[in-house]
Amino acid sequence: MDFSELGLNPQLLKALSEKGYTEPTPIQAATIPTILEQKDIMAGAQTGTGKTAAFALPVLQQLSCLPVNAEKMATESADADINVNRSTVSDHPVRALVLTPTRELAQQVYRSFVHYGKYSLLRSALVYGGASVNTQIKELGEGVDILVATPGRLLDLISRGAVNLSQIEHLVFDEADRMLDMGFIIEIKRILKSVPSERQTLLFSATFDQQVFDLSKTLLRSPVLIEVDARNTAAIQVEQIVYAVDADRKRELVSHMIGARNWHQVLIFTRTKQGADNLASEMCKDGLKTQSIHGDKSQGARERALEDFRQGHIRALVATDVAARGLDIDQLKYVINYELPFNAEDYIHRIGRTGRAGGSGLAVSLLSADENYLLEEVEAILDTSLPQQWLPGYEPDFTKEVKPSRKNSRAAQKQRARDRALGKKPAKRKR
Ligand code: AMP
Repeated sequence: MDFSELGLNPQLLKALSEKGYTEPTPIQAATIPTILEQKDIMAGAQTGTGKTAAFALPVLQQLSCLPVNAEKMATESADADINVNRSTVSDHPVRALVLTPTRELAQQVYRSFVHYGKYSLLRSALVYGGASVNTQIKELGEGVDILVATPGRLLDLISRGAVNLSQIEHLVFDEADRMLDMGFIIEIKRILKSVPSERQTLLFSATFDQQVFDLSKTLLRSPVLIEVDARNTAAIQVEQIVYAVDADRKRELVSHMIGARNWHQVLIFTRTKQGADNLASEMCKDGLKTQSIHGDKSQGARERALEDFRQGHIRALVATDVAARGLDIDQLKYVINYELPFNAEDYIHRIGRTGRAGGSGLAVSLLSADENYLLEEVEAILDTSLPQQWLPGYEPDFTKEVKPSRKNSRAAQKQRARDRALGKKPAKRKR
């Protein structure tokens, strides 16, 4: 199948062929015609499957309701590199709103709209926290058709009266599961009050759980459910390896793997911001250029680190789950889980950073004995077993005493039962 069979207009087809896309990915083939029929959809698509274009293309197409001649003129003007006068659209209210959980994902989605829409007369804008609000207000004042936003900053702009959402025709929730995990439900409900109920709503989520279904009930009208991969499964083209190793030898093992195997552009996940900083600085001491990104870093620092990583100026990037959401790095081959995530679904998001759009990838998880229960949770959600291996020279030392793992160890269960019987509050989990 090629893109023209999906009913996309010539401007979009031209932009796609410039990108070198020859055929739609399965999620694109499944969603684009349905969205063009103006239906609401609820789509299960992991990151890396081409889901951004799956909603961006049909939204752009529906918004470009230009007469055929005007479309032709726009294409020809762009061909001739003539600056199209966009003042005709500058006073339009926002017509499409895309909500994303993180700044990085917002930037990626915005870039896609700009690229795919380059031969249309539509204007896209991006608003997220951590960047100058005045610049964003100015841009919104100049007229915007498509707005890509993170929920907090958008609410701020709504309360300042800087954005009018009363004419929204298409509302997209990208990575809805993550938005809910990050606690954005209150912001979402407030934003919905500013958006007309007569609209098309598209909900994309890597994973589905009760929370996502509850949200979908309040948002969508007779949605078409689209799932191209089995629910909650990881991209099959990603090879997954689990090395059992002592916690205090993980850092050494990471540096050894990257150095000895000559890996470049390695994305490493830690559970905490401090863990990310410590690991990055230790790896630098090992002679591997490494930076960290997490929520305590300024937007500028995050963008610089990301750009250095993209350009190959640094060998590895250490990230927390939230900061890494939405990262789209072409040809990223290696992901290392320095620690397994507490939330098993994050594992899917993490390894989805590699093996994108059909490329191959390798995800290595370093498992210390106290993380066994987390691996079991990952295996349960993937419905597959991930056998543990030992790397020669880094075999776990079984003579060491292993701290009982918090959640599911028998000792922990017994302790909780004793605490309940004694009416004690359960101890808080340390992160
Ligand atoms: P996404 O899931 O939207 O983050 O997209 C993952 C990657 O796939 C991005 O780098 C896209 O540029 C790329 N991509 C999207 N659609 C296609 C396609 N039809 N053919 C090849 N690459 C694509």
